[in-house]
Amino acid sequence: MKTLIEKWVRPEIRALRAYHVPSAQGMVKLDAMENPYRWPEDLLPGWYARLAGAEINRYPDPEAARLKARLRQVFSVPEGMGVTFGNGSDELIQLIIMALAGAGSKVLAPHPTFSMYQMISTFVGVGYVDVPLRADDFSLDRDAVLQAIHKEQPAVVFLSYPNNPTGNLFDNDAIRAVIEAAPGLVVIDEAYHAFAETSWLNEVATYPNLLVLRTVSKLGLAGLRLGWLCGDPAWLREIDKIRLPYNINVLTQATAEYALEHYAVLERQTAALRSERGALLRALDGFAGVRAFPSAANFILFRVPTGRAAEIFDGLKARGVLIKNMDPAAPMLRDCLRVTVGMPEENQRFLDALRAVI
Ligand SMILES: *Cc1c(COP(=O)(O)O)cnc(C)c1O
Repeated sequence: MKTLIEKWVRPEIRALRAYHVPSAQGMVKLDAMENPYRWPEDLLPGWYARLAGAEINRYPDPEAARLKARLRQVFSVPEGMGVTFGNGSDELIQLIIMALAGAGSKVLAPHPTFSMYQMISTFVGVGYVDVPLRADDFSLDRDAVLQAIHKEQPAVVFLSYPNNPTGNLFDNDAIRAVIEAAPGLVVIDEAYHAFAETSWLNEVATYPNLLVLRTVSKLGLAGLRLGWLCGDPAWLREIDKIRLPYNINVLTQATAEYALEHYAVLERQTAALRSERGALLRALDGFAGVRAFPSAANFILFRVPTGRAAEIFDGLKARGVLIKNMDPAAPMLRDCLRVTVGMPEENQRFLDALRAVI
């Protein structure tokens, strides 16, 4: 068996480790940028009725046309621009890279950033080029990125806006320069759009090589697995050819439609989280030896005293609070931890545990 695997499985796949999701059973779960709030009780009967009416004996609508129409309206998708759905935005990242993969084609992204860009490039067998952010504030090093684009001629550039795991928004002029210099696609990944209150969505009509990627995951519907890609329909038609026809299941379509009909509820929840983010940032900054980085997302990256990230992460875990240790992810993230903004009582439990550990 082992020799067969060695013979047939690509070495770069054998060298990988599967995406690890730690168990959060019984813990305050602040590790995965989920919205902690459930739907209000009065929304549930209407939802159950939709689910009861869903035809699970039939294949889903491959175009998810009703959901698409609702979504275009809720998010004010620019006139004439296309929308394609993915089973999570992760799937759309995969489809984009698969569509552009070819002899010598490359993916380029800043570093550190969302790990799936690199992982999926590896799965698909495409070269991956990363350009370091500035170490002091994680801003985009405009000259370095432009130089790398010129030299590497990437098929696609991914920009997470705001950037995961650093939380900041890249400078708009630098992004504009990247879009103008890129020989191929630029994908702006707005997974945290609800917390950033700024967007490039309207610019997809201006730049024919720009696509904007969104997801409902961080908005409060992580369990659904629904992402969407917006831009010139000519690009989306190509990407659509490799999308598996029934990637968005019947229950996801019915639920997302219902959720978007009640979008104001999600907006109230994300507004509450934005205000909690401010409180959490100030509280973190109040700890001696801790530096919290400003965030336009629903998480905060913070640096603890030198060499103590793993110990503090473990101490929090022992006290029932799960966050994410970013120290091993990149040299630039040394001594850094990332906490998701939760409900006030969860954030308080995190702060109390941190006080005890630090
Ligand atoms: C969480 C995240 C995603 C993944 O979103 P899904 O829709 O849940 O697959 C994509 N991009 C970034 C930057 C993220 O942080």
